[in-house]
Amino acid sequence: MKAVPVVALSRRGGLVPRVWRRDVAAVLIPEERLARRVRALARRIQKDYQGRDLVLVALLSGTLVFLADLIRHLTLPLRLDFIGVSSYGAGTVPGRLVFTKELKLDVAGRDVLVVDDILDTGRTLRRVLEKLEALRPRSLRVCVLLEKKGRRVEPVKADYVGFEIPDLFVVGYGLDYAERYRHLPFVGVLHPQLLDGAEVVETERGSARNGPAARHSAGRTARRV
Ligand code: 5GP
Ligand code: MG
Repeated sequence: MKAVPVVALSRRGGLVPRVWRRDVAAVLIPEERLARRVRALARRIQKDYQGRDLVLVALLSGTLVFLADLIRHLTLPLRLDFIGVSSYGAGTVPGRLVFTKELKLDVAGRDVLVVDDILDTGRTLRRVLEKLEALRPRSLRVCVLLEKKGRRVEPVKADYVGFEIPDLFVVGYGLDYAERYRHLPFVGVLHPQLLDGAEVVETERGSARNGPAARHSAGRTARRV
């Protein structure tokens, strides 16, 4: 695949819309740039899968906005399915993955494209890919909106990547922090003090304590924002 756009945190990201200024410290990828890139990814997928009957397997829930935009640029015959996977709740071993929704379609002998929001350590996608491989698809590829290159601990590679981003905890365009901020139309970075506070109080899913938000702790974010 052609070079992936690398995004840096700078003023070029654009001004934070007034309504979001209390929560969002910076816009990393503005709405228009997301739209252009998603269209380009769709064009490539369309070309690569021409003449095939594709099964798109999206990971819940971070892909919701990306997926909705991506599929509306595709004119291939395709079917959609979803896998739910999340880090286990508070008080358990950090990073333990639990499947919360299983695949419905039979993917044996099918061309399968897995769609995820962000490739970080690679642990999630590795588990998902292992599971799918066992079902013997005809082909299996991966499409992610974002990737943080430096943080990989599992040798997972994505075939289609929207943007390479720095090691920052990002929200918006489907990505959450403790289930909030998925509806931001851009990808942005929260004020560090918000991450701090939530790490103490949000324990329901454990994601804020044990998950990515905790790993990218406020200190690291603060220096870069
Ligand atoms: P991995 O298993 O590759 O470490 O992480 C993948 C999952 O962690 C993503 O699907 C996403 O749910 C979450 N994640 C990783 N980095 C970020 C981030 O910067 N922001 C948000 N909101 N979620 C992230
Ligand atoms: Mg996710």
